[in-house]
Amino acid sequence: MKYPLADLSYDIVVVGGGPAGAMSARYAAMNGARTLIIEEHRAAGSPVQCTGLVSSKTLDVCGIRSGPWVYQEVTGAHIFAPDGSNISIGGEKVRAYVVDRKMFDRNLLRQAAAEGAEVMIGTKAVGLQDVDGMKVLEVVYSGRKMRIKAGVVIGADGVQGSIARWSGLGQVQKVLSGVQIETVYDVADTDHVEVFVGRAVPGFFAWVVPVSDNTARIGLCVDPARTQLSAYEHLMQFLATNPRMKARAGSGCSDMVVGCIPLGPQSCTVSNGVLISGDAAGQVKPTSGGGVYMGALCAKIAGEVAAHAALSGDTSAEALMEYDKRWRHAVGRELAVGMRIHKVFGRLDGEDFNELIRFCGEPEVLELINQYGDIDHPSVLLGKLVARTKGKKLLGVFRVALKAMMGKE
Ligand SMILES: Cc1cc2nc3c(=O)[nH]c(=O)nc-3n(C[C@H](O)[C@H](O)[C@H](O)COP(=O)(O)OP(=O)(O)OC[C@H]3O[C@@H](n4cnc5c(N)ncnc54)[C@H](O)[C@@H]3O)c2cc1C
Repeated sequence: MKYPLADLSYDIVVVGGGPAGAMSARYAAMNGARTLIIEEHRAAGSPVQCTGLVSSKTLDVCGIRSGPWVYQEVTGAHIFAPDGSNISIGGEKVRAYVVDRKMFDRNLLRQAAAEGAEVMIGTKAVGLQDVDGMKVLEVVYSGRKMRIKAGVVIGADGVQGSIARWSGLGQVQKVLSGVQIETVYDVADTDHVEVFVGRAVPGFFAWVVPVSDNTARIGLCVDPARTQLSAYEHLMQFLATNPRMKARAGSGCSDMVVGCIPLGPQSCTVSNGVLISGDAAGQVKPTSGGGVYMGALCAKIAGEVAAHAALSGDTSAEALMEYDKRWRHAVGRELAVGMRIHKVFGRLDGEDFNELIRFCGEPEVLELINQYGDIDHPSVLLGKLVARTKGKKLLGVFRVALKAMMGKE
């Protein structure tokens, strides 16, 4: 039997077989650490809690190329204001892919295994203790409890993970509720996603992501602090009342995804013998809710730092702080700017959004968006807008933001 039901011992144990877990394990193994990933479900990437829209940069960070698990190449977006007006952004270049997340996750896990990481699926972490300077994870595998020792535990256990809590770490700043269906849809452009903003989606936005020319993933996220209704109730209302949905979406669905999106990273992501990464650490873009890119990027650093710490014998929080510093240096500012944009957008009302979309549709602004718009790094575009647009043009954005800051909370 491959996994004897006795105590096991590794340099690194990664809890969670999602993108952050697979990437951190891969980089830990690449750096010479004996690494194990445990995943509570019996198959990685399942159940899916994702739309499967990942940027081209995500594939670069993950070191994988397009494959049969890519359904569509996305070059742009149609963005709809509450009054029905819309702008189209993008161009010729492929900026993102619509993927089968299950296959995507399995690809990442296979890569980790190819670097020497071991994988135990159907294994759930149920407790974490300190014993003789080591971390000891209590797990349930095939219905039986066992213990696994680790120099360092990486908590890549997602938004509802336990490792951060068991290690005395804090919480993410906010959690959004999301729901999505896959259904028949009369897709206008298979290379464009559709985005809908306004009061129908309090605190976030709705999306239509094409899977084929007649199927799409239609979903939305809401900020529970801004609505009494569930995300599901909002989606049902959106499908029933939005004119474009009424005209293009079929009834019923072939798949439904329900999940949470954590926003605003934890103030500290390490403790003695523990690092947390991905959704568990709030490493998610607050402007789009996408977590695969940021999670993978930070997880690489987690794997490297954990491996060096475990192999050097110093797994103290001080030694592991290198991870916290390095990931914040890489994306901390982007997440902070994204959080500010998210907060301002959450306060806008329908007319604000109409005004904002009109402003973004002005040729000079549209040109900047098309040139510098980056789903992973929206702060780059903001910087260009501030630097390159004359003060008069920017007034539109500032007016909307100012109104929101002053009047609505
Ligand atoms: C509706 C919706 C749509 C989304 N769409 C997109 C999108 O289009 N693009 C994008 O980039 N992001 C999207 N996201 C976010 C994205 O899915 C997450 O950011 C991403 O999956 C985070 O990866 P992760 O590895 O940190 O966590 P996860 O993918 O959640 O993986 C965590 C893993 O840990 C396992 N686990 C948890 N606890 C334990 C335990 N105790 N023991 C063992 N295993 C455990 C879980 O089973 C899970 O497999 C979406 C999210 C939602 C809710």
